Amino acid sequence: MIHSSFEFDQEQGLNIFAVGAHCDDIEIGCGATLLKLFATYPIGKVKWIVFASNPQRRLEAIASAEQFLSEVQDKEIVVLDYRDAFLEQKKFEIKEQFEFYKKDFNPDLVFTHYRHDRHQDHRLLSDLAWNTFRNHCVLEYEIPKYDGDLGIPNLFVEIPEEVADRKVQILLDCFASQAGKHWFDRETFLALMRIRGMEAASHGRYAEAFHARKIVF
Ligand SMILES: [Zn+2]
Repeated sequence: MIHSSFEFDQEQGLNIFAVGAHCDDIEIGCGATLLKLFATYPIGKVKWIVFASNPQRRLEAIASAEQFLSEVQDKEIVVLDYRDAFLEQKKFEIKEQFEFYKKDFNPDLVFTHYRHDRHQDHRLLSDLAWNTFRNHCVLEYEIPKYDGDLGIPNLFVEIPEEVADRKVQILLDCFASQAGKHWFDRETFLALMRIRGMEAASHGRYAEAFHARKIVF
């Protein structure tokens, strides 16, 4: 392990802060990595914060987060109700939310959106994560979309096939409201993990990939 900030107290367990603009972002971007971390390391606390939702999507997000976090004892799932696509207009409020949820919490890993994601809500949360967590290991996850903004990630997490399947199955089971979207299907989710697995030249077929902007030895 080369990142000093990632060294964590084994007795306290790994503390994780995961942030997503929309209800399924954390799952799509780093769901399999989280499942793998939960199965690999002792876990301290996980804070899972989603900013935009509506009443239906909120219920879906909670059901999905509960499944991803089913093995985690100490967890906080927060699904706020900001309006999708309009987070920029609430930037100052959202910054205060970050500060509120950061209080008394020193995560070993922060998962957020990719800084150069073309979705304005995603970019905002990436910026706010970085300016809130200034001495932390921040990993930026990727969300495939029609904008074609996937970059060249530099950190890969090998994902066992059964973990990749579990991630996709929870997504498909929990987010019924997204089923009609042309991109929201098993093939999209597996394809991206398969490509990242190929790039990682991993032993298995799948990986999730991240932008690790700053590494501290
Ligand atoms: Zn999103």
